[in-house]
Amino acid sequence: QVCSPYTGRFAPSPTGPLHFGSLIAALASYLDARVASGRWLVRIEDLDPPREQPGASDLILKALDAYGLHWDGDILYQHDRLEAYQDVLSDLLKNGQAYPCTCTRKELAAYLPSYPGFCRSNTDTSKEHAIRFNARDHKIVFDDRIQGHQSFDMKELGDFVVFRKDGLFAYQLAVTVDDEFQGITDIVRGIDIMDSTPRQITLQQALGYHTPRYAHLPVITNELGDKLSKQNKAEALPLDNPEPTLLLAMSALGLPVDDHVRSSSLNDMLSWAEQHWSLPPLQNITAIPESSLLQKR
Ligand code: GLU
Ligand code: ZN
Repeated sequence: QVCSPYTGRFAPSPTGPLHFGSLIAALASYLDARVASGRWLVRIEDLDPPREQPGASDLILKALDAYGLHWDGDILYQHDRLEAYQDVLSDLLKNGQAYPCTCTRKELAAYLPSYPGFCRSNTDTSKEHAIRFNARDHKIVFDDRIQGHQSFDMKELGDFVVFRKDGLFAYQLAVTVDDEFQGITDIVRGIDIMDSTPRQITLQQALGYHTPRYAHLPVITNELGDKLSKQNKAEALPLDNPEPTLLLAMSALGLPVDDHVRSSSLNDMLSWAEQHWSLPPLQNITAIPESSLLQKR
């Protein structure tokens, strides 16, 4: 099988500094790319100013740097890509693959999370509206490198928003356009995004894009079993003395960290990890005592 050269990416939203959960995703996609002698790109998904934190992009990049996760090429900022998204959106509308949806949150309350398709034949754009992709009854199947065979019925997931009522491009549209634009062949990311993947594949198919390979990492929980995220206040990674935290991230990903590795330099740790890397097994949900990894600053 002939494959285009491996191109992976890490695509954080600058809603806060990098935390342990995002370090895991960054490290896994980095190692997977390096082992394949591929490229590893960083894309800042700054599409949603109301949710963003000033300075977060720079903090995230600083953290990647401090942890030795050096990226290839230039960083792509989604705020520079609005014209490309607009072109794709216009094409979808012109081809009847997307439509203006004027439904209010209240009208949809009884049906969500799956949109019932009320506006599928609507063309009225005089009222405040979102734009939805008509996902019809497509069946999406793919083989996840960790989670195995996946099958989704778009009829159940429903038509999804590609342009928001508040005037912002939706994540699903931007991520799909940019994964194609950057020639991404491999996506390694958290399983919390799994239900976005069939939506992105549906869009790829509608737009004639290629579909990357996917690997969705198991959820990383803290000692209380809560998912680590910016929402439940997982703390910012320490930027000084990154080694202990990097070692924890490696163990969380199933790498057999031993004393020899523990006493190496950051760069040697990363080269060792490259030599031992394989995708973590299914259901490897690792509980890590939060206190041991996040030093107060
Ligand atoms: N920007 C998204 C996030 O930080 C992730 C996008 C992706 O990996 O597809 O949650
Ligand atoms: Zn509607």
